[in-house]
Amino acid sequence: MTKSKVRTRFAPSPSGFLHVGGARTALFNYLYAKATGGTFILRVEDTDRERSTEASFKIILESLKWLGMDWAEGPGVGGPHGPYTQSERLTIYKEHTDKLISSKKAYRCFCSADELESKKKQAESMGIPYLYDGKCSDLTDSEINEKLTSNTPFTVRFRIPNKIVIVDDIIQGKVKFESKLIGDFILVKSDGFPSYNYAVVIDDALMEISHVIRGVGHLSNTPRQILIGEAFGFPIPNYAHVSEIVGTDGKKLSKRAGATSVLAFRDLGYLSETLRNYMALLGWTSPDGKEFMPDEELCKIFDISRCSKSPATFDVFKKLKEEEKETVEFNKLDANGLSEYLNPKSKLNWMSNKLIREISLERLGKEMVPFLKDAKIPEEYKSGTHPALLSILDSVRVYLDRFIQAPPYIEEFFLEDLTFENAEAKSLLTDGNGISVAKAFYANILSSETNDADAYKNLMAKAGEMSGEKGRTLFMPIRAITTGKSHGLELPILFTLLGKEKLVKRMQILANQAGIQLN
Ligand code: GLU
Repeated sequence: MTKSKVRTRFAPSPSGFLHVGGARTALFNYLYAKATGGTFILRVEDTDRERSTEASFKIILESLKWLGMDWAEGPGVGGPHGPYTQSERLTIYKEHTDKLISSKKAYRCFCSADELESKKKQAESMGIPYLYDGKCSDLTDSEINEKLTSNTPFTVRFRIPNKIVIVDDIIQGKVKFESKLIGDFILVKSDGFPSYNYAVVIDDALMEISHVIRGVGHLSNTPRQILIGEAFGFPIPNYAHVSEIVGTDGKKLSKRAGATSVLAFRDLGYLSETLRNYMALLGWTSPDGKEFMPDEELCKIFDISRCSKSPATFDVFKKLKEEEKETVEFNKLDANGLSEYLNPKSKLNWMSNKLIREISLERLGKEMVPFLKDAKIPEEYKSGTHPALLSILDSVRVYLDRFIQAPPYIEEFFLEDLTFENAEAKSLLTDGNGISVAKAFYANILSSETNDADAYKNLMAKAGEMSGEKGRTLFMPIRAITTGKSHGLELPILFTLLGKEKLVKRMQILANQAGIQLN
């Protein structure tokens, strides 16, 4: 058996949360490696010293771990091509830079930031794109030594060869770039740190990356990277630039930064498998058009060449109203706040509800634990293993798109001070023939010793015969007198879970509040 040579990498810059866009890139790299028997690598690109933070690094790792995307090489696990954090690889970059300078493929530029800035402004005022003018490209050795001895700060620029670069992209096809429109760009900044375009090429080559899969926003960086790779004589990796993700309004997702953080989905109570399945479909389709797929299947059938060039729609949020567009600060909302903006009919919700209905009851209880912490229920139910809690969960799971929705349903079973939710709920009982229905049902409950759902169904039907009501005018008054609400769990199921004693007590409390006599 030949060993697959596919090696992919996810290379986040630790300067914020891990958002859906980045997580989708990570996922495609991960799935492609899995599907080809290859290796998935994590590399941290922290050369932008001002924007990189330790907190962001931790959040990114936590997000990837929650999503279950284990990296075979990278921070925490090591590997033969480490270190995997760019700020720890400075000597490697330096060695490479020395080679480029001595072969004259790169040169030191001593132009000051002010000087460059004023040249940039001048170009702008003339309406022409700014390119470095090459002032330092041909300094003599003695000019260079003089500057170095006087400690003049410098950057290192790439001497760009004049040619057409063709990026042969797996998803975007062949894209042509003229190098002379790029200009001699900076490889090493004056603080000694490599630029993104430079470090990425050295690392991809030394880490033997075979496929660079990343957002289409990086396509315009690719010709620079290819030229640097050619200057070193590195093998050029395969490139696959995945489409942009847009919201239901067709606008780029990045506008809603806070709302698309991976951990926000965890906190809303989506299962990580659901988010992975949903993200896999952002720009990729399975060969048979199937959408709901377990992890193992995705890991087998994912193929990067089936990705589409067109933008993928992220339908998780509702379209914002005009007045909300400027005012909603998604990054300041907690999971409850965010819930208000979710599109109830999203594909994510459909997938999530389907999976919540399918997982084992034992797992459901376990997954629910963080969401029960602040629920108004007795402490002994919060461990997620209590048999009564599990049977409640089993009945309510059909209603759930995400776990954060569960506590109000569960609390319903423990309410002591029951009240009518609103005037409408009360009128369901007091209007029309509601009182007769309630009385008949109450009498039937008192005279029965049953506790199974079918028997409760019969007791309801019997109350219908006694009061002459059926359908809505039968069920709604019964719902109102037993719950104080106009919606909720299926009644026979609710009654079974509550049991006779609680049911009778509830009816008495609510009848009292509505000022009616049940017997
Ligand atoms: N650090 C880059 C980013 O976060 C990675 C780009 C790449 O994959 O080459 O956008």
